[in-house]
Amino acid sequence: MPELPEIETIKRGLENNLINQTILSVQCHRDTLRLPIPKDLDRMITHTKIIHFTRRGKYILIGLNNQQTILVHLGMSGKMIVRPNIKDEPIIKHEHFTLVTKEGQRLSYIDPRRFGVIDLFQSEQTPILLSKMGPEPLGDEIHQQFIMHHLQKHLRNKKQSIKVALSDQHIIAGLGNIYVCEALFLAGISPLRESRTLNKNEIMRIVLAIQTILTQAIEAGGSSMRDYVHANGKKGYFQIQWKVYGKEGDYCLNCLTKQKKSVIKRVVQTGRSSFYCDLCQK
Ligand SMILES: [Zn+2]
Repeated sequence: MPELPEIETIKRGLENNLINQTILSVQCHRDTLRLPIPKDLDRMITHTKIIHFTRRGKYILIGLNNQQTILVHLGMSGKMIVRPNIKDEPIIKHEHFTLVTKEGQRLSYIDPRRFGVIDLFQSEQTPILLSKMGPEPLGDEIHQQFIMHHLQKHLRNKKQSIKVALSDQHIIAGLGNIYVCEALFLAGISPLRESRTLNKNEIMRIVLAIQTILTQAIEAGGSSMRDYVHANGKKGYFQIQWKVYGKEGDYCLNCLTKQKKSVIKRVVQTGRSSFYCDLCQK
């Protein structure tokens, strides 16, 4: 599943290709994904102008000049492709939504497993899907302090492991399995630690590690971005070399630099694999 850096990259790609364009036509090729697609979506957004793109957690928000916003989530397998529109070109396999602009671009939403979401809401309101979401992990120093206090408050009484807590979108937005594993490795915190046992200093290390990992990933994504928008999970993870994710059985590179040999371990937590080094992470 694409996580914050992939979604941020897709958002920037959409912005580069579609900002200030006018929607000429909209076609929904099915009624429902994970949730129903609004029935009158085409009528509501045709002839409006796309005025901004934002991201909230793993959602992309497409703001229109009629005070409405399109909400998109890519689910497990979704991707979006922007390319020049060719008249009468057949839809792609699993293309559930097509938007064509007056300027001649075609946006296709493709999702084989259909866990994604396409919705529409009034721009001044917060849709239910976003209303209980935790704060964004990235931001300036003031925001960093805010995240720090927010995590301290929410982790204080939690028996749940820190790995599971950080993957919870209600606690902090945008993180999934890969970036949580990598951030905990960088912070030197075991994914198995009970959240309530973390002290202030350890939480600060986690916040800084999350920000470092996400920023690196967004930078890598930005440099590999082309004229189309693409995210199919694995391919969307750019060329970053993970330190622990998917590395079960490999020697920990951090330990090797200290002339120690430790093998990356894998453990399953709430159905998802966590990867870690038990020498580096306590
Ligand atoms: Zn290690």
